[in-house]
Amino acid sequence: MERADAVIAGAGLSGLSVALALAEAGLRVAVVDRSDPRATHPRSPGGDIRTTAISLSSRRLLTALGAWDAVAGDAEPILDIRVSDADSPLHMHYDHKAVGDEPMGHIVVNQALKESLLDRLAARPEVVIADPGTVAELSVTPAAATLTLTDGRRLTGALVVGADGRDSAVRSLARLRVTRLPYRQSSIVDTIGHDLPHQGIAHERFMPGGPVALLPLSGRRSALVWTERSAVAERIARLDDDAFAAALTERFGDSLGRLRPLGPRRVFPLELVAAESFVADRVALVGDAAHAMHPVAGQGFNLGLRDVAALAEVMADAVRLGLDPGAATVLRDYQRRRRFDSASLMASTDGLVRLFSNDVTPVRAVRDLGLGLVERIPPFKRMAIRHAMGTLGTLPRLLRGEPL
Ligand SMILES: Cc1cc2nc3c(=O)[nH]c(=O)nc-3n(C[C@H](O)[C@H](O)[C@H](O)COP(=O)(O)OP(=O)(O)OC[C@H]3O[C@@H](n4cnc5c(N)ncnc54)[C@H](O)[C@@H]3O)c2cc1C
Repeated sequence: MERADAVIAGAGLSGLSVALALAEAGLRVAVVDRSDPRATHPRSPGGDIRTTAISLSSRRLLTALGAWDAVAGDAEPILDIRVSDADSPLHMHYDHKAVGDEPMGHIVVNQALKESLLDRLAARPEVVIADPGTVAELSVTPAAATLTLTDGRRLTGALVVGADGRDSAVRSLARLRVTRLPYRQSSIVDTIGHDLPHQGIAHERFMPGGPVALLPLSGRRSALVWTERSAVAERIARLDDDAFAAALTERFGDSLGRLRPLGPRRVFPLELVAAESFVADRVALVGDAAHAMHPVAGQGFNLGLRDVAALAEVMADAVRLGLDPGAATVLRDYQRRRRFDSASLMASTDGLVRLFSNDVTPVRAVRDLGLGLVERIPPFKRMAIRHAMGTLGTLPRLLRGEPL
């Protein structure tokens, strides 16, 4: 491609989603990733074994982009969320029926979603997925931005989109400052088989070391995201299957009957990473490159899709008006739309982690009071459910399920 409208660094879930959204609007897109996105099989060392809780508004976006049908068959609906605090008898219970008929979200397998996005992209003549290459340099002129790869190849567009994850090279090459806050916690991810059906319930139990979440998958299986202090997490992850199941049962209880780890198992160190600005001259950040957060609320990628929807909308509108899609006014509009949502979700997620990863008695009393209040006051509860579903506030067209 001579010159694209957008050059996207990173073919993770955010990069592929933004490529598809821009192609839907008729923009010409080049995507490059340091590894081949189709080669990252979950069982290979670098493969993504994770699942993602996709909120209702994210599902609407993926449906509007034609990427939902291929994953729908295996996506397990979340009908109910139960949150409990260690040994406290108090718990919160969010039933989807409190706000309507739609499930609150679905659990999807990351690699299946990636493949669905890649299949849709393969059918779009506007998109070129370049051979694997690593971003080395960024140069910006008043009219264009160019990424140079370590092998010397150059990709030029009206805009460079940094979708290259929490250690984003584009972000540092564009000199965008970042706040980093390591949690000293890591999440152990595995798939768990259990004797009793999960009935569409997502469980999250807060323990002093971190939350333990079991999220419904097809059949009698759930996705485990078990957070602990990092050294403890490494030790637990190395346990054999029987000892691992016993340690998990000790924390989670036996409400799903006997638990069996099905693997593969992997550990993800956690860190908050927040870019101070999402834009620079002819550069925009999306997804984890802009904001990486603790998985406690299962919102990281959902927030990334909200970036995707907003960026695609401002760029598509600019092109329709005959304007430059990488112009400073377009990027300012993107930044304005994303700043509040991103900052508030990061702050509330961080607060939740600190409030619950704590065994001090007065702190426990305060959070139990909070749990009790949300549980007993229906408007609070409905708001919390809509927040998890991603349907609060003014949403871009794609998140309402409308075409761009
Ligand atoms: C344990 C865990 C559970 C989670 N659960 C949920 C959940 O339930 N719901 C939810 O919404 N979110 C969840 N998240 C968050 C979610 O996984 C991330 O927000 C999401 O995967 C980020 O996708 P991304 O495409 O922005 O970044 P990445 O997946 O990091 O992709 C970045 C891509 O850029 C490429 N790249 C990097 N550097 C370069 C370079 N220099 N040159 C070229 N290419 C480069 C990489 O190879 C990679 O393919 C979870 C996270 C964790 C850790």
